[in-house]
Order: sequence, then structure tokens, then C-alpha cells
Amino acid sequence: MRTQRRIKGTLSLKNSGDLTVYFIGVGSAFTRENAQTSMLVIKGDDHVLIDCGSTCPNALYQIGVNLCQIERILVTHSHADHIGGLEQLALTWRYVVKKKPSLVITPEYQKILWDFSLKGGCGFGERHDGKYLEFEDFFDVIEPKLLKGYSRDFYEAKIGSINLKIMRTMHFPDSSTSWKDSFWSTGIVIDDRVFYPSDTRFDPELISEIEERFKPEAMFHDTQFFTGGVHASLDDLSTLPAAVKKKMHLVHYADTWRSFEKKIAEYGFAGFAMPNTYYIFSGKDKK
Ligand SMILES: [Zn+2]
Ligand SMILES: [Zn+2]
Repeated sequence: MRTQRRIKGTLSLKNSGDLTVYFIGVGSAFTRENAQTSMLVIKGDDHVLIDCGSTCPNALYQIGVNLCQIERILVTHSHADHIGGLEQLALTWRYVVKKKPSLVITPEYQKILWDFSLKGGCGFGERHDGKYLEFEDFFDVIEPKLLKGYSRDFYEAKIGSINLKIMRTMHFPDSSTSWKDSFWSTGIVIDDRVFYPSDTRFDPELISEIEERFKPEAMFHDTQFFTGGVHASLDDLSTLPAAVKKKMHLVHYADTWRSFEKKIAEYGFAGFAMPNTYYIFSGKDKK
């Protein structure tokens, strides 16, 4: 993996073909300095936006990307810092673009996302033959397929040349003891090369399964600077093997991040995931 700073100007949703990860935001739900964590995955002519939180539409605007250009989306879970901008995206496509973008989503999460979140804002703008709008009026669905042979629910979806493995995670409530008794939340492995659990509590079993199976070149892991609650703490993550920490970038961080830079270096992490930075994975196949 190599990094490249983005120098001003518009971010292109196409590139020469190298798998590229670009964080639209790197901050926590409560950040003011950075946008909330979401990423664009770009490879050749293909792209997918991973999460669209409340600050995402404006953060995209700042880099010259309009919601009308975002054709493929995956949302990892229903917290507002991950879906708070999705209603705006859905309405923009229906009433400005007049087409549908594609959302990578399982039937189980589709129902949750619509019934508990999107329906209130999107559902009642039109009525045809006595029926209000449905999820399918806003999005084409790319349904990931359930994979066999994993210790938890893993799915796979293909977006052009981009391969996404999607796995259930243990994010909330804070009392859950596994992904099974957690509310819907997911992480992803991109092209078998990059691991991004999105929001999760400390879950060393998942990290070791990912490491054994994929030996990813980079991990971008959720972190918070205290232990408890629904995220993985820096101190808990510090107990991971040195080889894992060496390729682990920390993301979804609070505005106090600068006071932890020294500690993060001492623990042996790769560092904080940075805004305005392309993370580029060259070569057609994983080494
Ligand atoms: Zn979050
Ligand atoms: Zn969350």
C-alpha cells in the first residue's frame, strides 16, 4: 500500500485501475474538526460509497463530488453518523437525477433501514393508487450472497471489479456478548486486501479470523480513547499482535486525537487514517 495526498481540486470517481480507498471523513459521530467517518472505494470505472452520515453530503461537496454522482452505496449500520445523509442522497436521486442509485443491502437490513430510519423522511412524499413510496422506489438493490465456511455471517457482493465481503459485527448495545445478540451492524473486507470493520466494539476473534483468512495489507479500525461503550478502545486494541498493529490505521476518532499520537506510535500502530489522502493498493492481484 502507498499513500498519496490529494492536492486541491475535484476528486475523480475513476482511476487507472488500482484499488483506492479515500476517507471522506475520519471523525467520530461527535467530531467537529473532521467529517464523520465514511469512505469512497474507487477502482477503474467503479466506485462505492461506504456510509453516508449527516456530514457526508457536505464533505463530498468540499471535494467537488455531488450526491448525483454517487451511484453505488453500502451503509454499515443505522447510526446517524453512517446514514444521516442517506435520505438526502435518496431524495436527490429521485427528484433531481430521476434515476435510482444502487444500494448493497441484505433483505434483513433493508427492512430495518426503511422501517426505522428512511421511511419517515422518504416514504410519504407521493401517493400512487393509495400507496406511499417504498424502499425500491429510491434504490436498486444489490443483494449480497451469504457465504459458507465462516464463523459468523459473511456475505459477498461485487460492484464491477470491486469485491466486498461483508460481515456482521458486535457494535451495539454495549451489553451484547457477540455479533448474534447485537443490532444490525457490519464491517467489510475490500478485494480481500483491506479490512474495515466500521463501528465495532473490541472483537479480537473477528480480527484474528480476518488476519488468518485474508492476510489483509491494511486495516482501518474504529477507535475511541476510553474503554467502555460501543466502540473499540485504544487500550484494548493495543493488546493485538504486533504484526496486526503494524498495518492497523485508526479511524472514527475524536477531536482530541493529537494528544494520542505519541501513545499510538508507542503501541506500534500504523497511525491515524488521514483525511485528504488516497490509500492505494497497486497490482491486479493480492501479493
Ligand atoms: Zn460511527
Ligand atoms: Zn455506530
